[in-house]
Amino acid sequence: MQTNVVTPDGSVFDGQVEMVSVRTIDGELGILPNHLPLVTPLSIGAVRLKESGNVRLIALSGGFMEVRSDEVNILAESAELPSEIDVTRARAAKERAERRLEQAKQDNIDFRRAELALKRAVNRLDVAEK
Ligand code: ATP
Repeated sequence: MQTNVVTPDGSVFDGQVEMVSVRTIDGELGILPNHLPLVTPLSIGAVRLKESGNVRLIALSGGFMEVRSDEVNILAESAELPSEIDVTRARAAKERAERRLEQAKQDNIDFRRAELALKRAVNRLDVAEK
């Protein structure tokens, strides 16, 4: 399948893959060739691109996926390949988010924002380490 992962900053991946796995708001979803057309929102998580036995990971911070006949387009808020992830920055973001979660009240906007920042940081660290 021709697969594109793009962010507002440009293309992160553009190539042929055998299978695309993503995290949607309803859970993990695997796309194989000849999948039915689909548009779905994506959550913070890893995109797995399987190509000739290898799996390439991309850290994604939410977005949308469009599946068309043998074509997958992922429009992401941000997306990084493992080699592009600054681990020191992600660790600092994780610690900052954890501190904010401790300080913020559970039901306020700051808490929700810190939760999402923590998810992005943990996802980047997971993808960088795999
Ligand atoms: P930070 O607090 O470190 O900025 P963030 O989760 O708030 O993290 P985002 O708003 O998701 O950052 O991303 C802003 C831009 O910075 C995007 O282009 C994203 O790809 C990039 N980016 C964020 N964190 C990292 C990282 N650890 N390594 C590489 N690029 C990153």
